[in-house]
Amino acid sequence: MPEFKTARGMRDFLPKEAATMRYVEAITRELAGLYGFQEIITPIIESYELLAAKSGEEIRQRMYTFEDLGGRKLGLRPEFTASIARLMATTLRNEPKPLRLYCVGSLYRYDEPQFGRFREFWQSNFELIGSTRPEADAEILALTNDLLKRVGLQNYWFKIGHVGIVRGILGAEDVGEENQNKIMQLLDKKQWADALTLAKNLKVSDQCIATLKKIFEIKGKNSDRVIEEIKSAVVRYEKAMFAVDNLGEILELLKTGGVEFDMSIEAGFARGLEYYTGMIYEIYVPEMDIALGGGGRYDRLIELFGGEPTPATGIAHGIDRITLAMEKQQTPPLIRTQKRVMVIFIGEELKSEALRIASMLRTAGVSAELEVMGRAVTRALQDADRRGIKQAVILGPKEMEKGEVILRDMEKREQHTIKKQYLIKEIEKRTPHSA
Ligand code: AMP
Repeated sequence: MPEFKTARGMRDFLPKEAATMRYVEAITRELAGLYGFQEIITPIIESYELLAAKSGEEIRQRMYTFEDLGGRKLGLRPEFTASIARLMATTLRNEPKPLRLYCVGSLYRYDEPQFGRFREFWQSNFELIGSTRPEADAEILALTNDLLKRVGLQNYWFKIGHVGIVRGILGAEDVGEENQNKIMQLLDKKQWADALTLAKNLKVSDQCIATLKKIFEIKGKNSDRVIEEIKSAVVRYEKAMFAVDNLGEILELLKTGGVEFDMSIEAGFARGLEYYTGMIYEIYVPEMDIALGGGGRYDRLIELFGGEPTPATGIAHGIDRITLAMEKQQTPPLIRTQKRVMVIFIGEELKSEALRIASMLRTAGVSAELEVMGRAVTRALQDADRRGIKQAVILGPKEMEKGEVILRDMEKREQHTIKKQYLIKEIEKRTPHSA
């Protein structure tokens, strides 16, 4: 037999890693509740056509695609937004707005595996649908800020931009959407010089090139100053001006509304996905040069999928990368551990009673592991010790006759004989801090 391995780019999550992933996931669910988002579960497999429609060349090329036995062309979802847009164009078409939806799950991209880049990864994805207003963008950013704080990250920042700035300039120069997308893709890869060359080849005006050059260089932490700088650069481009005003309004709202985080506003910032129409953002920590999450406004996507014109804004949090950042910043998950007890019996005749006691403990909320290896008490206790179980309940024939059991404290290495009916109380008493 060959030695089986996980497929390239795929990972197993062993208990500690799985617990950390689920911890972050649990926090996203908690926040969903606090912000009024409702969960939807969409399929991992969708039609290729849907997934490829608006995801952008970058992602399209890295999709896992296949034909099913019926000859349908399908793909593993590389992102959630296409599925949500599909729902909004169909089943949820007539739902009253705003809609606050979220999903959590795995996604698939044929990325080159490296630190923080996997072929199967996990996101929590929040979408606020039905509003064009800055309040909606602010809500998504506030939720994300709360998530990063709650998982304990102390040092993180948002990279912020607005696709309407560059698109507004290019649109005014009659650059069509397809070519705009190509330029945005280059910006996403930080290939500013190539973006300028492409724009030149498209015969845009010298003023346009000069403006783009200026735009690509504008960035900074002080939102008021950066917004003013961008405004003076794009003053001749009406649509770009609208975009800067919109960005400024959202940032102002965040500031006056007490949502505080570090940020870098970059006028030439673009994201890989093609469907953004407004403010966009990504999250970074200083220890990693890959984004922990990203999102933005996409006001036309739902319409492009056949739905009503519906504005929307949303974010995807990369759960894997958030856990990596937690490791780097040494903020371990606060995983609540349960009281754990091992139930050991001496002699085959006590097997059923042991099972019954284990059930009784579980009903009372105590995690109980029944000895299943038929080991002698000392061996079973050694194993409990090794696995960090703090207490053992031992059933012996002598004690059982009197309706008693032995409760052993594994750390203190002492044990007491107690009446069966007091067992739960004793366990509670002896584990003051759930352990
Ligand atoms: P995107 O859907 O490309 O906007 O990505 C949103 C977030 O998903 C990123 O910021 C990452 O945190 C995460 N992500 C995207 N691709 C990968 C990957 N290949 N491996 C791990 N996380 C990823």
